[in-house]
Amino acid sequence: MNLGIAGRWALVCAASKGLGKACAQALVSEGVNVVITARGEDTLNETARQLRAINPEVTVIAVAGDISTPEGRAAALKAHEHFDILINNAGGPPPGDFREWNRDAWLKALDANMLTPIELIKATVDGMAARGFGRIINITSSAVKSPIESLGLSNGARSGLTGFVAGLARQENIANRNVTINNLQPGSFDTDRLRDNLVAAAHEMGQDSEALLDECRREIPAKRFGSPEEFGALCAFVCSSHAGYLTGQNLLIDGGAVRSSQ
Ligand code: NAP
Repeated sequence: MNLGIAGRWALVCAASKGLGKACAQALVSEGVNVVITARGEDTLNETARQLRAINPEVTVIAVAGDISTPEGRAAALKAHEHFDILINNAGGPPPGDFREWNRDAWLKALDANMLTPIELIKATVDGMAARGFGRIINITSSAVKSPIESLGLSNGARSGLTGFVAGLARQENIANRNVTINNLQPGSFDTDRLRDNLVAAAHEMGQDSEALLDECRREIPAKRFGSPEEFGALCAFVCSSHAGYLTGQNLLIDGGAVRSSQ
C-alpha cells in the first residue's frame, strides 16, 4: 500500500533509539523528510546516518536537545519551516513508590509526558489545519488503559495528556481540516527502556533478570515482546493519507496483554 505521504515533513521527538527511531524509520521508508531529536548527540547522528541510508531521497535533520525544555523544543521547531506530521515522544518517568515523589518529580513527569506534547501541538496544529493536512501522534502507554502500579508518574502524566487530546482532536478547525490526533499505547516492546526497567525490577526483587524477562513474555497472549518495527509500521499507517477518518483514538498495540473487550 502506498501511504500517500512522500514529501511530507515530520518532527519525530526522542528518536535516536527505540519506538521513536522505529517511527522515523517507517516514515523515511515512505519518503517522509524527518527532523529527529534526542539528547545524546552521537547516537542521534548515527541514527540520522542510518535513516539516510534507508532512503537517500529524503532529508534527515538531527537536532540534539532535551525536548522537555523550551530551548529543546524551539531548536526542533526551528529546523524546518512547517511540519505535516508530529510524533510526540520522550523518555518515560522512573518507576517507584508515590510516597517518595515530591513536587519536582511530578513536574518533571508532567513536563516530559504531558506539557511538552501539548506545547508542540500548539506550535504546529494551526499550520496543519491551514494547509489541510496534519497527523499528530502521541506515544503514550498501555498504562493509560491498564495502570502499572510502579509507574504512577507515567500513569498520571499520560492520562492527563490523553484527556486533553480527546477534547482537542474533535475541535472545529482541527477534525474538519484533515488534522488527526491519536495516541499510540505500546505494551511491552523490546527496547532499551523495557530492558532497563525489567533489569532494575529484577535487581530489586533479587531475581535473575533473564528469568523475569521470560516470565513477562509468558504473561503476554502473543508470548513475546513487540518489535519496534511493528510499532513504526502502525505509526506510519496512522500518519498516512488513508487514515484521515481516524482521530481522537487510543490505539493499544500490546500482543493482547490488556485483558479488555473495548
Ligand atoms: P528508549 O529505547 O529508552 O528510547 C528513548 C529515546 O528517547 C532515546 O532516543 C532517547 O535519547 C530519547 N529521549 C529520552 N528523553 C528525551 C528527552 N527529554 N528529549 C529528547 N529525547 C529524549 O525508550 P522506548 O522504549 O522507545 O520508549 C519511548 C517512550 O514510550 C517512553 O516514554 C516510554 O516510557 C514509552 N513506553 C515504552 C514501552 C516499551 O515497552 N518500550 C511501553 C510503554 C511505554 P537520549 O537519551 O539520548 O535523549
